[in-house]
Amino acid sequence: MKRILLVEDEKSIARFLELELRHEQFEVKVCYDGREGLNAALEGHFDCLLLDVMLPGLNGIELCRRIRRESDVPIILLTARDAVMDRVAGLDAGADDYIVKPFAIEELLARIRTIFRRIHPAVQSDDKLTVRKLIIDPTAYEVYFEGKKLELTRTEYDLLKLLVEHKNKVCTRELILESVWGYDTEVETNVVDVYIRHLRAKLMTEEPPYIETVRGVGYVMRE
Ligand code: CA
Repeated sequence: MKRILLVEDEKSIARFLELELRHEQFEVKVCYDGREGLNAALEGHFDCLLLDVMLPGLNGIELCRRIRRESDVPIILLTARDAVMDRVAGLDAGADDYIVKPFAIEELLARIRTIFRRIHPAVQSDDKLTVRKLIIDPTAYEVYFEGKKLELTRTEYDLLKLLVEHKNKVCTRELILESVWGYDTEVETNVVDVYIRHLRAKLMTEEPPYIETVRGVGYVMRE
């Protein structure tokens, strides 16, 4: 779950945004003044900060500047209508984006999604892992291939996920053994080959094979 820090002194706006963001499955912390917001931003691990500009204690632009000295966390400023200077100063202070009050909640949500896409272009917003027509949903431990759900054992799942996480990079047999079976394992390296055969049988396709053998080294998942 992504965590958002909201710094907004107008309690009714803060409450409304908090409820809407929670509804969108974000975890939300709210602060009502700039200094409290600065401490929270520097101590907590947030995925995005929403900072009002006109704040008691420390204004949003100064807050943004101070946070930027310590952190690259995405920042969206909530600025007043017509405050062009605020927007320019905010972007100069390191904000990633701004939104002008009053705004529709859908617009704010769209800005947040855009920022997450820009920061994690490889990972889709729903955290699924994909290679061509193969989709892994790690939160549900489910795998879909060419639109159908695949039945995998836990070991097959762990092996497939490892290959997908390293797609287009070679996974050595040693890496696979360590990651899937653990350090203290007694299993032989050829158990890896056996499980790769199981996976290949389940990933039959007209397309080029998903799992390639790198002779003498290991395996690679091809995008
Ligand atoms: Ca304010």
